[in-house]
Amino acid sequence: MRQRVRKGILVFSMLMFPLTFFFLSPFVIVLSAAKGILNGSAMVFGLLLLFSIFSSRIFCGWLCPGGALQDYVSAANNRKWNSKGKNLSKYIIWTVWLSFIVFLWMRNRPLKGNFLYLVNIDQQYIIIYAIVMSVIYLFTLLTGKRGMCHSLCWMAPFMVTGEKFADLLHIPRFRLKSVPDACVSCGKCSSVCPMGLNIAEMVKSGIDSSECINCLECADSCPKKAIRFGIGQKQR
Ligand code: SF4
Ligand code: SF4
Repeated sequence: MRQRVRKGILVFSMLMFPLTFFFLSPFVIVLSAAKGILNGSAMVFGLLLLFSIFSSRIFCGWLCPGGALQDYVSAANNRKWNSKGKNLSKYIIWTVWLSFIVFLWMRNRPLKGNFLYLVNIDQQYIIIYAIVMSVIYLFTLLTGKRGMCHSLCWMAPFMVTGEKFADLLHIPRFRLKSVPDACVSCGKCSSVCPMGLNIAEMVKSGIDSSECINCLECADSCPKKAIRFGIGQKQR
């Protein structure tokens, strides 16, 4: 039931993406910063960072329209993402991108807030939207399970930063917990993970992955209830 609700929310989010696109855009924030404006996407990214201190990456697993699209593409290519070193790319891109935005903010002070800045649904916008959706579609088709989340997403590092901040200050946050003695190594949890994580292996040593999007597919599919979840600190 929970997974049906989650997938329903994701479908709704994907349908609303033509309207929410501006507020999740990595480009509109740059154009706005160049004019000294804190736009909607700057505010949303800031909120995502704050939200993740307590809720980890729930946004990615339950709300992200780009993630929803990738989950549907995964039906055509269910290959697991080969993460060796490649997850780093999103942090490198994010650092360069965010540094440039901060530079523009500093140069164009004082900043003015305008949530709807550059929001304009016209023909040019529809073309840009179609190109972005096609890129997400093709990239995931080539790379496999949530390939963009792993390697390119500009929003994930905000949430991973929130998670690390919470762990550093010992703030309890939403996380998975394993019961290793209950696990019978059936591998079901790993096979349903939309991020392609080897969660069955992590159950033995304690679950702690910044790539986990807290979708709870693994917990819901485990026949032995060896994966639980709740608010807490890192499992020892
Ligand atoms: S589904 Fe449950 S029992 Fe099976 S490997 Fe995963 S944690 Fe272990
Ligand atoms: S490890 Fe579990 S909660 Fe995390 S992304 Fe995979 S299936 Fe979802």
